[in-house]
Amino acid sequence: MHSSHPAAHELQQKSANCLWVVFKDYVLAVDANYPWGAQDILKEIRKTTAKPVRFLFDTHYHHDHTFGNCVFVDSGATIVSTQETASEMQTLGKKEWDQGSGYSGRDMTGFRREFPTLTFDRRLVFDDGEHRVELIRMGPAHTGGDGVAWLPKEKILATGDLCVNGNPWGNNVGDEHAEYDRWLTVLDTLAGWNPTVVIPGHGEPGTLETLRNQHAFLTDMLDQVRQGISAGKSKKQLVEEIDLSKYPVYGANKTSIRRSVGLMYDKLNAARLKKN
Ligand SMILES: [Zn+2]
Repeated sequence: MHSSHPAAHELQQKSANCLWVVFKDYVLAVDANYPWGAQDILKEIRKTTAKPVRFLFDTHYHHDHTFGNCVFVDSGATIVSTQETASEMQTLGKKEWDQGSGYSGRDMTGFRREFPTLTFDRRLVFDDGEHRVELIRMGPAHTGGDGVAWLPKEKILATGDLCVNGNPWGNNVGDEHAEYDRWLTVLDTLAGWNPTVVIPGHGEPGTLETLRNQHAFLTDMLDQVRQGISAGKSKKQLVEEIDLSKYPVYGANKTSIRRSVGLMYDKLNAARLKKN
């Protein structure tokens, strides 16, 4: 198993983590990044093996993980994802692509959208007798279709953005299909697998502790937003008053907290109004 996690100065170039597993006959890579990141990652893969990159797994549909699909397809890979991620890519992902340069800070001209052509409902296993990688659907949680890559022999887990680590922007909690309570359950389930290495969607590789920190942070944010809504606080008030300073990694970036809390407020408030 190899992985590429960008240093801070590389974040624009390679925004998300990518790992790849060298099987006997081929390479399976996880998360495509932006196209320019994908080009760099392919070069890094080439330093580790001459075997063809035959499969690229998208953990979820978000732009920073999938816009580089075309680069992997051009080099001969088949894009793999959960069925739900593939369908989210067609709908929600279209909106993202149309604002491509807004998200990535760069022009998408010259690149094109490529979709998963190998999809699965619950689980897809790659096993050549030596290496085993299980792609497992965990969503809906952070998005509808979240999938993880699990290497049971080495106990290595690639979480996509179900978990991030040391990323100043924290998670994107505002996805249309995000389900917060299920997300927390999923983090418990993943921790129950007792991984030795956790490769988060963004930030440094971590451990079981990283999953627990992510769980604590999300729980606290969710509790405070729910309490604020019940107490009749406005979004503006809640965003100003919320205290997540206990979580130095996620909580320090005020801009990000305001954005995340605002999105969570909107989502929960809309659900509440719909119910009433
Ligand atoms: Zn991401």
